Amino acid sequence: MPYCCQCGNQVAETDVYCRRCGARQPVPERGQPPRETLSPRTASVLCYVPLIGWIAAVGVLASERFRQNRTVRFHAFQGLYLFVVYLIVEWVVGPFFRTLPGGALRPDKWLNLGLVAVGIFMMIKTSRDEVYSLPILGELAEKSAAES
Ligand SMILES: [Zn+2]
Repeated sequence: MPYCCQCGNQVAETDVYCRRCGARQPVPERGQPPRETLSPRTASVLCYVPLIGWIAAVGVLASERFRQNRTVRFHAFQGLYLFVVYLIVEWVVGPFFRTLPGGALRPDKWLNLGLVAVGIFMMIKTSRDEVYSLPILGELAEKSAAES
């Protein structure tokens, strides 16, 4: 929900004028209708934000707007699967290594750090409109996007 550029009052996305102070609200760039400010590319990039990208991914997959957009859905699935791998490392691989001495050298920590790096890498790739397919996860995402 956006806020008035003048007084900070909450305004609806479709409001042209603020209900409290009457200030004209900035028109979304590129003359798009106000409800479609989230571009497919931005939505795709958000799906890869480490640790919280899955929220965007679930939103994309549930949204009517991207139902027909296979590229965005592919990114959403891939971002989701990347998070699943992170969870597996955190909940399955982690506890196993936690029983062993090793401290900072524990492989699960490095794995998770690597996954965060992959997420950032994917954000950069996607922001350049490159559809990068990760090994295994990319194939899974491809199938999921094709099925739904
Ligand atoms: Zn206002």
